[in-house]
Amino acid sequence: MPDTLEIHSLVVWLIFGMAAVTFVMVVFITAPYGRHMSEGWGPSLPARAGWILMETPPVLVFFGFYSMGQFRAETVPLIFLFLWQSHYIYRAYVFPFKTRHSGKEMPVLVLLLAVIFNSLNAYINARWISHFGQYSMDWLTDPRFIIGVVVFFSGMFINRQSDNILINLRKPGESGYKIPKGGLYRFVSCPNYLGELLEWLGWAIATWALAGLAFAIYTAANLAPRAVTNHKWYQDKFPDYPEKRRALIPFVI
Ligand code: NDP
Repeated sequence: MPDTLEIHSLVVWLIFGMAAVTFVMVVFITAPYGRHMSEGWGPSLPARAGWILMETPPVLVFFGFYSMGQFRAETVPLIFLFLWQSHYIYRAYVFPFKTRHSGKEMPVLVLLLAVIFNSLNAYINARWISHFGQYSMDWLTDPRFIIGVVVFFSGMFINRQSDNILINLRKPGESGYKIPKGGLYRFVSCPNYLGELLEWLGWAIATWALAGLAFAIYTAANLAPRAVTNHKWYQDKFPDYPEKRRALIPFVI
């Protein structure tokens, strides 16, 4: 690979910059997909195809760059590879087939922006864990690694449990919205986003790298405003929406 640590650092800072820009944009403009899909965003494609295309770069780009790293066969990088792919293989090839979208579309623009971010993000993280970062066997007993992995898998559990609750609200062929109940929906409107945030916070702690931190901050910048928007949407749509439920963080936001 002809890249250098300087090029890698540049892309890491680019992701921090993208997080700031994304935050400002999504505070004012809600990303037009799912319940917030609207006309006027140019050509669109079926939502299921969109999800598969959007989430494939993190699987392939990550694996490609990982495979070129000097430490690709070492234990800790291999564990990180497993963590990453256990999230993204599910998100790209299992989740889209479980959802009940009923003919819903996604703008090509949303897909393209996600592909750009996902590819750059996969590059910085894969390249760090298998090439620029150095993780000896001692890292396996480091508290940062242990806490990070526990937070990652706790987030994955919350994310999948919450997504499954949403998916099961619809019978096959249905496309409407209902009030989700159970799991962490007792406390917040978007526990799936909370779980996602915890996953990448755990990743940032376990890898202890700027690349991981950039991804965690980007995820928060992208999903926190959407959680607030979804929460308001539920309150407007359902007069009997649970009053004490918050948007994203139990008892806080
Ligand atoms: P949503 O919660 O908006 O929707 C998830 C699925 O559930 C969709 O199929 C949706 O249908 C359906 N659904 C949602 N609410 C209801 C309801 N009240 N009643 C019935 N069905 C419902 O999540 P997103 O689509 O935004 O995200 C999906 C996953 O991807 C999440 O786990 C999220 O964490 C992750 N993600 C991660 C991002 C990141 O930056 N890392 C960015 C975006 C998503 P419909 O599509 O028809 O609305």
